[in-house]
Amino acid sequence: MKSSASCFFLISFIFLSSPLLVRAATPRSGFVVTVLGARGGILDGNLSAYMIRPAGDDRAVLCDAGTATAGLVAAERAGALDDIAVPPGSGLTRAGYVLTHTIRAYLISHAHLDHVAGLVVASPDDSAKPLYALPATLRDLSQHLFNWRIWPNFGDAGPPPALGKYHYRALTPGRMEQVPDTAMTVTAWLLNHGGIESTAFLVAANGASVLYLGDTGPDAVEGGHRLDDLWRAVAPEVTAHRLKAIIIEASYDDTRADRMLFGHMTPAWVTRALRDLARRTGGPRSLRGLTVLIGHVKYSLAAGPAPQDTIRQELARDAARDGLGDVRFVIAEQGLRLTLD
Ligand SMILES: [Zn+2]
Ligand SMILES: [Zn+2]
Repeated sequence: MKSSASCFFLISFIFLSSPLLVRAATPRSGFVVTVLGARGGILDGNLSAYMIRPAGDDRAVLCDAGTATAGLVAAERAGALDDIAVPPGSGLTRAGYVLTHTIRAYLISHAHLDHVAGLVVASPDDSAKPLYALPATLRDLSQHLFNWRIWPNFGDAGPPPALGKYHYRALTPGRMEQVPDTAMTVTAWLLNHGGIESTAFLVAANGASVLYLGDTGPDAVEGGHRLDDLWRAVAPEVTAHRLKAIIIEASYDDTRADRMLFGHMTPAWVTRALRDLARRTGGPRSLRGLTVLIGHVKYSLAAGPAPQDTIRQELARDAARDGLGDVRFVIAEQGLRLTLD
């Protein structure tokens, strides 16, 4: 983990060190994705959280917040926050500055604890910001988490008194919203996740975009067509070469039986889903150069190979079988910074 994080740091460092590329006057088309939390259950301190910002712009959104402060501290240690300028006299650590100033909004896919625990425990020292989600997720947060029983009500709805630090912003599937104080827009789509709603977010800026999928199961197992609806909606982003990356889960390896997926994916289901997308965009070659960042790999207490190593090998095999050899698969690791141009 360390070596891949520092390798990416090194690449990003060289990239950002070029005087021609630092803070270009015209907006650059691309994104920086920083992984604050990579695993799906059970490793507290490293749960789904992806900080996304346009290249050359320090105003970010955080897609899910299973881990927040611990992820920022780990990212800082890995050097993955070094390109964010902390004003002298801020009185804050780099992690503290990024939490309270760089992260301008939360995008929460669903209210499972491994996607919100970091947000909840960081809330007393966090800054005020909007929290975007679909209505069912906002209802879960305001009624069952920020409700003065599980945690003080830092939201602006729910059991009084509402402290109002987090401004709940309900998204409508398919309708684009500008994220205030950032250069980004967000558009949400529904996903099926083992009987509850989850969300995919398309984050766009300067003619480029990144697609983040919260937990999801395959359409064929979940019994629906929400993934296919999502592919249909984002296909124009692919054909116009705007989509830089898809962040998607592969919780289990390919030996997992479909009836035991509980609303999650495997490498084989991921590559099959990407094939479905490619069917709408002119074939597998249309995905050439696309980065697919694999997250939510379930941490294992079992001795033996790390699940992410098994999943990396299976992805290579499944992608070759499905004609997706041109897709760049990256396994998410905490502290990894990806520059997507
Ligand atoms: Zn999860
Ligand atoms: Zn979940």
